[in-house]
Amino acid sequence: MTPVASFRGRRVALFGLGGSGLSTLRALAAGGAEVAAWDDEEKSRARARDAGFTPVDLATADWSAFAALILAPGVPLTHPKPHWTVERAKAVGAPILGDIELFARERAARAPDAPFIVITGTNGKSTTTALIAHILREAGRDVAMGGNIGVPILDLPPPDPSRVHVVECSSFQIDLAPSLAPSVGALINITPDHLDRHGTLENYAAIKERLVAGSTIALVGIDDEPSRAIAERLKRRAGARVVAISAAPSPLADVFVEDRFIVARGEGRQVDLRPAQALRGAHNGQNAAFAFAAARALDIDAATIGRAMASFPGLAHRMEQVGRLGRVLFVNDSKATNADAAEKALLSFHDIFWIVGGKAKAGGIEPLRPLFGRIAKAYLIGASSDEFAHTLEGAVPFERSGTLSEAVTAATRDATASDAAEPVALLSPACASFDQFANFEARGDAFRALVAAQLAGHAPQARGDAR
Ligand code: ADP
Repeated sequence: MTPVASFRGRRVALFGLGGSGLSTLRALAAGGAEVAAWDDEEKSRARARDAGFTPVDLATADWSAFAALILAPGVPLTHPKPHWTVERAKAVGAPILGDIELFARERAARAPDAPFIVITGTNGKSTTTALIAHILREAGRDVAMGGNIGVPILDLPPPDPSRVHVVECSSFQIDLAPSLAPSVGALINITPDHLDRHGTLENYAAIKERLVAGSTIALVGIDDEPSRAIAERLKRRAGARVVAISAAPSPLADVFVEDRFIVARGEGRQVDLRPAQALRGAHNGQNAAFAFAAARALDIDAATIGRAMASFPGLAHRMEQVGRLGRVLFVNDSKATNADAAEKALLSFHDIFWIVGGKAKAGGIEPLRPLFGRIAKAYLIGASSDEFAHTLEGAVPFERSGTLSEAVTAATRDATASDAAEPVALLSPACASFDQFANFEARGDAFRALVAAQLAGHAPQARGDAR
């Protein structure tokens, strides 16, 4: 844990007692702050009680006594409308801060030179964060990874010059971290997403820009308009250290990907991505280029980076390779809950036996039509079956499997009979999971277990049976 000493002896309000809220409460208390913590949900308040804290109803509290409002990142700061605690804090002029800000203040006070890498972007945050952490660990560094990716930042060990913090940050968290100034900041990409929480694309982009503008070394993508504008703006600043990054060759890029090689301008090909099985697809080329630039910023050599990329296991449920049966590769991409994400997987493979469906998003799989030629057959599951059957009719052979279990059995049967070089049985549902599963993780876990059962069923006969 990183105790937060910046509010020692002072009274602060904290709203939101989910995972990261509770972690913040502990860290503030450990640092000597007096915390009035509250959540509208009784379940969350009960969790705080179990952890030894007494919730304080902020609706009836004396706000003039609070030095700050600490907000969990899920609580609306601006859109669709400010949470009532935000209005109360503003009325008394109390700053509104999040856990990333509290960590940044600890670092500034105790170990301002401690390496601190922060990653944001609309897509690819978790993959890039995990990849950077993996490379640094393989290079023998002491790494603390967390933030939006899992372990709340204040649950990580404290900042220290001998330890690298690698932290994934959502725009909500950046919005609550006015003094965030990492040694390396990465802005991967900006596409319309979460606009319900940020209002306009301009506002969303401005929040993300704040991260790289405050970084000693700024890694900025140039593959979308808003990000490229940010890269150009930062490069014009005096003394700026900006690395422009692209997934494809570009005269504007300092680091880019060409024919599955990471290239550094003026230094040529640095890393061969072909052996990196978990980093297939152009989108992962972008993530890998960012990880390369971050690791180089910490003086890791290209050969070490290349070896670490090849051994990167990937993240669960994101184009995760979960087994092979002869030439057939099984891939769990359960995290693909919309057509945009499924597109990335379809672009990464050929001869696809595609398990698709669930609770459909607006537009369904119609946007994927240009990629239908890559699909050998589709297996429809869940509530979207009628709609998707209609879309696929006449373009892609399909069957209505109904359940994931039926789909895995049928896809395994057809893929193993295929004469393609590498048939791929792919779960990339392009849908939410809630019609059949608790969440996308449960759906991916079920797929992994079903694949394991298929592999076991096809195991070579034990010797005693080979009569
Ligand atoms: P995030 O943490 O930003 O949600 P993840 O690394 O978890 O991103 O990836 C989630 C999904 O987003 C992946 O399964 C893939 O479909 C897509 N994705 C990953 N990286 C990128 C990228 N650089 N650009 C576009 N889409 C991406």
